Amino acid sequence: MKNKRDYYEVLGINKNATEKEIKTAYRKLAMQYHPDRNKAPDAEEKFKEISEAYEILSDSQKRAKYDKFGHGAFDPNSYSFGDSEDIFSSFFQSFNSSFSGGSFFDDIFGSFGGFETETNKRGQDLQLVLNISFEDAIFGREVEIDLDKYDRCDFCNGSGAESPNDIVTCSECHGSGQIKQRIAIFSTIKPCPKCNGTGKKINHVCHKCKGKKILKNTIRQKIKITPGIDNGDSIRLKGMGKPSADGSNNGDLYIVFSVATSKMYKKQNNDLYLIMPLSIKSILCEETISIPTPYGKKEIKLDNKINLNEPIRIKNYGYPYKNSNSRGDLYIRLDLYIPNLNTDEIKQIKKLFENKNDTKREEWLKKF
Ligand SMILES: [Zn+2]
Ligand SMILES: [Zn+2]
Repeated sequence: MKNKRDYYEVLGINKNATEKEIKTAYRKLAMQYHPDRNKAPDAEEKFKEISEAYEILSDSQKRAKYDKFGHGAFDPNSYSFGDSEDIFSSFFQSFNSSFSGGSFFDDIFGSFGGFETETNKRGQDLQLVLNISFEDAIFGREVEIDLDKYDRCDFCNGSGAESPNDIVTCSECHGSGQIKQRIAIFSTIKPCPKCNGTGKKINHVCHKCKGKKILKNTIRQKIKITPGIDNGDSIRLKGMGKPSADGSNNGDLYIVFSVATSKMYKKQNNDLYLIMPLSIKSILCEETISIPTPYGKKEIKLDNKINLNEPIRIKNYGYPYKNSNSRGDLYIRLDLYIPNLNTDEIKQIKKLFENKNDTKREEWLKKF
């Protein structure tokens, strides 16, 4: 802590620098010292110093603390505020973990262009939405689709040149792939525009890939739909995404399933709901009715003591659970109706009910 450089000095800015000036200074320096780009032995140390300074100065609260107390404000051993926030250890933990993953560079630089020239930079992941029917989602299925697949050109082996002798050193950058640019006090390294940062020039391009280094092929891909697959579920096809510049490090393709909504069944988790018209005659006569389930017709004998407000439950006739033999349940909501009756029939029914001693409603009324 004692020998720490002043954060403003690290970023080469003055104490009144605006947020924008801090950001600009950081980006320039981070680009210059990022260990992916700068192989000098102290580059990583410098980069950490720059990142640490930025971490504090870009946060107005932390900056205020720093302005007031200096480095001691963030020394876990110094006790100035009564808060024990140990921002450094947490910052460096997250910093180190993302750093080793190689995505840190993309995270900061992706938003403003950065370098797109590294030949081994991983290709982009792609997403493809596959529409499937409700039935296919329930029963599962295997489908075949045609997909683009990018392979490294097998003639030039990804060099883009007709023969190895056609690859010569770029005269602009002398093979380094980089050119130095000085803006104000900052020295920035940019990829060489002539060779796109490769450091090489190709005299005769490969006839097979036309110098593109990659070939686009179409393959038939089998896709397995698991019974019970859900809307938004996906599978990953490794290396089937966008290619890297030389086709050696392709991104992945994600097949995302979009399951069609059923016209008949309403799905709630793994239970299915069906609204079914039912005549009161069927209930009074305790008929056996046929219920359409996704798995075929199911016969059910009605009981006239059935609770009409409760849906009829048919166990294990709902949506399948993935990778399991069990399913949710099927619920039938009743849409009750009175069958069409002629005058004569109504007369008979009235007669039938006239002397029926039913006091349930009267009992209910008495509560008021
Ligand atoms: Zn060059
Ligand atoms: Zn080729």
